[in-house]
Amino acid sequence: MKNLTINLATELKQKPTDESALTFGNIFTDHMFLMEYNPQDGWHNAQIKPLEDFQLSPACMVLHYAQTIFEGMKAYSGGKLFRPWDNMARFQKSAARMCIPAFDEKFVLDCLYELIKVEKDWIPKSVGTSLYIRPTIIATDPFLGVRPSNTYYMYIILCPVGAYYKAGFNPIKINVEPEYVRAVRGGVGHVKAGGNYAASILASSNATAKGCAQVMWLDAIEKKYVEEVGSMNIFFKINGELYTPPLRGSVLPGITRDSVIQMATKDGYKVHEEPIAIEDVYKASIDGSLEEIFGTGTAAVISPVGELVWGDKTIKVNDGKLGEFTKKMFDDLAGIQYGTAKDEFGWSIQL
Ligand SMILES: *Cc1c(COP(=O)(O)O)cnc(C)c1O
Repeated sequence: MKNLTINLATELKQKPTDESALTFGNIFTDHMFLMEYNPQDGWHNAQIKPLEDFQLSPACMVLHYAQTIFEGMKAYSGGKLFRPWDNMARFQKSAARMCIPAFDEKFVLDCLYELIKVEKDWIPKSVGTSLYIRPTIIATDPFLGVRPSNTYYMYIILCPVGAYYKAGFNPIKINVEPEYVRAVRGGVGHVKAGGNYAASILASSNATAKGCAQVMWLDAIEKKYVEEVGSMNIFFKINGELYTPPLRGSVLPGITRDSVIQMATKDGYKVHEEPIAIEDVYKASIDGSLEEIFGTGTAAVISPVGELVWGDKTIKVNDGKLGEFTKKMFDDLAGIQYGTAKDEFGWSIQL
């Protein structure tokens, strides 16, 4: 490929032999993609090379002011990607919001395809496993003033990851966060900016301490409307119809979210993208119209919710059992991603 240099490692690492022991984000493949930016050359020096540490100044801007963005996507059995062009488009939007120079999306996508081809033997094969893909950009000027950096690294690293639902597809318990908020309209919640996740850790720890697996975030202004769960979008099935919070600047526009909206609509469901008050979710659970709740995101695909802890109230969802619609969405989506079901939407690409 034009303008991409490929340097292969002379020694390869031992690949994990027991795929059932794979977890998330701790094993990295042999190679990485790296591209540099400076004002004279723009984005340049694109390369696939052996994975290695960076040498950075302790004054490096990203380390102080978090001018950094990332993406999260997966390669599935045998080298299939799911809507990767949509991840690239979102990466570009995140860059624009964080004053990071624009890049050629098509070129970076082609570089990603090359990287996956180089590392195809790292894609695990068992059900539910995948090769997680992490594109990232960091600001690299050694400078302590607050302004956009002049130099950047864009890189992509890969990790083989285990099946998310090793212990079964079991509904989780979630804490509705009473005090802290994730994002506010006008801020950066709608993009994958590193600082968002640092800011969310305290609420996650509090949820864990209460025996909950995730945080449910409410809106930052009235603390009344549901926004997301952890790093997932959220759906409610009430009276046979679907509800999910609208994209108004504080909710991350998930690709899984969009896929569920399109699949459910095609299946004949009415999907409402409108504000949902936590109070109304509680009422729906009391009057019996609340049927199912699930989160959506690349990591878990679909995450069934069995119980919400809201202050001193507990909201049980479908008696804590996995709902039929949640199960169907999971099967349909995973079917397209792993190539076991027909891809009517043209979402999957085989490399
Ligand atoms: C990445 C992310 C999601 C899910 O997006 P997908 O494209 O479906 O993986 C949802 N919420 C937050 C906060 C995220 O960072």
